[in-house]
Amino acid sequence: MTTAQSTSIPFFPPDLFEGDRAELLRLLREIGTGPSQRFILGEQTALLERELAEQLGAADVVACASGTGALTLVLAALEVGPGDEVVVPAFGCAPLASSVLALGARPVFADIDPWTMVADPADAERRITGRTKALMPAHMFSVLADLPAFAALAELYGLRLVEDSAVAQGGVLAGRPAGLWGEAGVYSFVQVKSFGMPGEGGVVVTRDAEIGRTVRMLRNHGQDGRTRFRHHRIGWNSRFDELQAAFQRHRLPGLPARLARRAEIASYYTGRFEPLSGRGVVPPPAGTDGRCYYVYTLLVERRAELAAHLAAHGVDSHAYYPQALPRQPAFAPFVRAGDAWPAADRAAERALSIPVYPHLTDVQVERIADLVCEFAAV
Ligand SMILES: *Cc1c(COP(=O)(O)O)cnc(C)c1O
Repeated sequence: MTTAQSTSIPFFPPDLFEGDRAELLRLLREIGTGPSQRFILGEQTALLERELAEQLGAADVVACASGTGALTLVLAALEVGPGDEVVVPAFGCAPLASSVLALGARPVFADIDPWTMVADPADAERRITGRTKALMPAHMFSVLADLPAFAALAELYGLRLVEDSAVAQGGVLAGRPAGLWGEAGVYSFVQVKSFGMPGEGGVVVTRDAEIGRTVRMLRNHGQDGRTRFRHHRIGWNSRFDELQAAFQRHRLPGLPARLARRAEIASYYTGRFEPLSGRGVVPPPAGTDGRCYYVYTLLVERRAELAAHLAAHGVDSHAYYPQALPRQPAFAPFVRAGDAWPAADRAAERALSIPVYPHLTDVQVERIADLVCEFAAV
């Protein structure tokens, strides 16, 4: 008898690095026993930064301890601080708000597009005040934010533009890579992200060499990399691990193929799900420009029931995010009375993500799609 267990499809697979295990162990030995005994910010980190910068055509890439750390350092480099407001999406992950608050500034939440779930530039514009210092749109699950519109707003109002591209490495919008639309962007390397690794890390990517220099200083206690114990700025410890850098360098050549496989699965899903739109299951928009499939997210009227249907057949799904950011106890105290984000609230009720990682087999992908279609047919 086939049990649900033996055929189950996890949302995030535990065997992500199985094929690279021997190399991971080899690198652990090499770096662990290497003569320099350098474990952070060494040659491997510098090479990873250079390889990413070349691949992107970025002025600089600076490796940091996490995507959240990277966002915080970018905001600090742009001198966001007390008295400033930063317009962020009302729907997304906690660092969008907490990175701003950690610097003593205030996040101002903009509502989202009800279909693509990324920040709505028109709503963001309405929230710009004399205290607004920066705009920080975020790319969401499958769709890149409307950065051309945000860049135009930043220009018009004289604001700084930060791109939370933590999930969007490899995505391209109108010929420009995600991360290079803003003055600076970030990628997260936390395990589950598209270029995830077995640990914590991330990078700042920027087309502005000066921002790159400042971020380099800020990630290592405000030192300039030449004179030790000379602190030019109040900084952080947000440094990068040499073993992880070596492992990421090993994984980098395979990234385009893994991203292409994600896009292929997503395209198949969208083809299967488009006919369901009138029946309470709405897929993200089709196409390849401005897409990046960190996860694949449906809008579902009967979300809990679809999740239960999938689970009953051994398929895990995930509701990101069950609450809009301004509804979170941590951030609610910072919103203005009477403010509303109806599209973000609706998305929080309906968004359901299904597995889209590259080593899903065609058979598994078809099975997941069949289950969703079967559910919508009832
Ligand atoms: C994952 C994520 C982050 C934070 O990255 P970490 O590496 O987990 O700190 C920031 N923003 C978005 C949109 C993310 O998805």
